[in-house]
Amino acid sequence: MSLKKPCKHPLCSELTSARHGYCRDHLDYMKEKQKEMDSSRPSSRERGYTTDWDKLRDEWLRAQPICQGCGRVNRQAKLLVHHIKPISDRGEALDRENLRTYCGPCHDREHRRLNLKP
Ligand SMILES: [Zn+2]
Ligand SMILES: [Zn+2]
Ligand SMILES: [Zn+2]
Repeated sequence: MSLKKPCKHPLCSELTSARHGYCRDHLDYMKEKQKEMDSSRPSSRERGYTTDWDKLRDEWLRAQPICQGCGRVNRQAKLLVHHIKPISDRGEALDRENLRTYCGPCHDREHRRLNLKP
């Protein structure tokens, strides 16, 4: 006798005895979910976004709350921290010398100008 548990799909109450915990109808869902997890892990590390970065970004925006392109402040626009030398080009993610504050549009423009990916 095998023990049956409800399928892990959030909207499914089908019982399953499969070890992965999904019913037969939701095998595709399970694969999608695994793909998502696999792809989200390495790419965020690749871009150098770690907890350290989140902390530094917060500190930076508190110290530099003005867009260096158009002068808008954080309350008027959602400001982003831009890397002058991109991480993908071995720029230092956590070096303050490599950071700039931009609002969304100025950031887009800067990336277009430098031909960088956002
Ligand atoms: Zn299911
Ligand atoms: Zn701006
Ligand atoms: Zn940028």
